[in-house]
Amino acid sequence: MNRKLYSKLIFDHSRAGRRGFDLPRYQRDDSLSTLPSQLMREEAPLLPEVDEPTVVRHYTNQSTNNFGVDTGFYPLGSCTMKYNPKLNDALAADRVIAGLHPRQPMQTVQGALEIYWTLQRSLSEIGGMAEFTLNPFAGAHGELTGLMVIHAYHDSRNDPARTRVIVPDSAHGTNPASAAVAGYEVVEVKSLPDGTVDVDDLRAKLDHTIAAVMMTNPNMVGMFEKHIPEIAEAVHGAGALLYYDGANLNPMLGVARPGDMGFDVMHINLHKTFSTPHGGGGPGAGPVGVRKGLEQFLPNPRVVRRDDGTFTVEQNNDCALGRISSWLGNYTVFVRALAYILTLGAEGVAQVGPLATLNANYVLNALKDRYLLPIPGPCKHEFVFDGLIDKSTGVTTLNIAKRLLDMGFHAPTIYFPLLFHESLMIEPTETESRETLDAFIEAMRQIADEAAENPEIVRTAPHDTPAVHPDDTEAALHPTVKYADLCDRPTT
Ligand SMILES: *Cc1c(COP(=O)(O)O)cnc(C)c1O
Repeated sequence: MNRKLYSKLIFDHSRAGRRGFDLPRYQRDDSLSTLPSQLMREEAPLLPEVDEPTVVRHYTNQSTNNFGVDTGFYPLGSCTMKYNPKLNDALAADRVIAGLHPRQPMQTVQGALEIYWTLQRSLSEIGGMAEFTLNPFAGAHGELTGLMVIHAYHDSRNDPARTRVIVPDSAHGTNPASAAVAGYEVVEVKSLPDGTVDVDDLRAKLDHTIAAVMMTNPNMVGMFEKHIPEIAEAVHGAGALLYYDGANLNPMLGVARPGDMGFDVMHINLHKTFSTPHGGGGPGAGPVGVRKGLEQFLPNPRVVRRDDGTFTVEQNNDCALGRISSWLGNYTVFVRALAYILTLGAEGVAQVGPLATLNANYVLNALKDRYLLPIPGPCKHEFVFDGLIDKSTGVTTLNIAKRLLDMGFHAPTIYFPLLFHESLMIEPTETESRETLDAFIEAMRQIADEAAENPEIVRTAPHDTPAVHPDDTEAALHPTVKYADLCDRPTT
C-alpha cells in the first residue's frame, strides 16, 4: 500500500474491541473526585480502536507528511527558512540548560544570565544599537514593544499630538497591525515602480502628528532602500522616530547596521536569522534594540552585569515599560542564537549576508528569461517574480507553487507582496549548496516548459502529495480537529 493511501485509510482499521494494550480495569471511586459530576464523562470517548502497529505506523507516516527544512529546500520568501545547525538544538536541549527554573535563586543561574547578557551585547553590536531587550516572543511582539517604546519617548517629551505611524504599502502585514494594536492610526506611503519607498510621498505625509515611520531594508521585494540617510533626516527633522523591521536581518549581517543608517528602534527575529527552527507558530523571539538615549524606555525586567562581574535581573527606573512577557522571554531560543553567533564568530557572521545575496542573485539570473521579473536585479536576499513571462498558458503562480511540491521542493511565498498579481517570492538563503540551487532552477525551468507544452499537468498539480487540493477557506473556518468529526466528513 502506498504511504498516502495508508495514512488515509488508517482510521478505517478501527474495529470494536481491538486493542494495542491491556490494562486492568480502573474502578472509579467518585467520592475521591474533585470534579463536579456534571463535568464527568458518562460514556467512553469515541476513539479509533486499533492495534499498536497501526497506531505507530499512522503517526510515523503522519510525521513524514510534513515538509521541513530538514527534508528539503524551502525557498519561502521573507521567512529565511535556512538550515539551523543541530549543534544549537542539542545545546538548547541540554539538561543543565533546559532544566532551569525561572524561580531559582540568582546565584544559581549566573551562567544563564551571562548567556542572556552576552546575547544582548552581541545583538547590539550586530544592529549598531545601544541596548537590546530579549523579552518579546515574536517579530510582531517586538514591533509592538518597539512602538510602545516610541510612545513612551513621545510621552516623556509631552508630545501627545503624535497619533499616527507611517508604513510603506509593501510592508509585512504585521507592521500596520502592530501600529494599530499600539493605538496608532496607520498612514500608508507608496512604493515606486522599483519597489522602494516614494520619498516625496513620505515627505508630504510627515508632520507633527507622526510618531514613527516603519521601514524594512532590504524591503519586501528584496531591494535596498538607497535613500535611507535622506529619509532618516526628514523623519528626525519632523520629530518622529525611525523604526527598522529587522525580522529578516539575514542579508545585512556583515554588510550594514541599522543603527549606523539612522534607525532609532529595531527588532530582530531570532527564529529567522539566528538559528531557531520556525514555522507552525513558535517558539520564537523578537528582541528589540534602541539607539543611545532610548535605553531607559525598554521593558522590565532586564538582565544587567554588576561592576563585580556578576549578573542580576533588575526592575528599574520610572520610565521603563512594564512587563511585556512572562519571565525574560524564550530562553532556549537565546541559547541557540548565541551558540550560532559564537560558532560562526565575527568572520563567519559577516559572510551570511553576502552569501545569502549571492545565492538569491544566482537563482534570479538563471530564471529571469522564463519568469517575469518586474523589478530588475540585482536583488538582496530575495526577489519577486510576477508569474511566468508567457501568460498565454493560463498557468498561475498557485499552479507553479503546487507543481514544485511534486518535484520535492517547498513552494516559494505566493501572492505576497501585493504589489503584483502573480507574486512568487523566492529566498534561497545562504545555507544551500550550488547543487541544491541548480536542482531548484532545473525544476522551475521544467515547470515553465510544461506550462508551454502541457499546461494541464501544471494546472492539476500536485499529483504526488498526501493532501492535494485542500479548501483553505473551509479549513480555516471549520477545522476538523476531532476524530469524531473526521468520521462524518469525507477527507481529501
Ligand atoms: C516574519 C516577519 C515579521 C513577523 O514576525 P513574526 O515572528 O512572525 O511575528 C515581520 N516583518 C517581516 C519583514 C517578516 O519577515
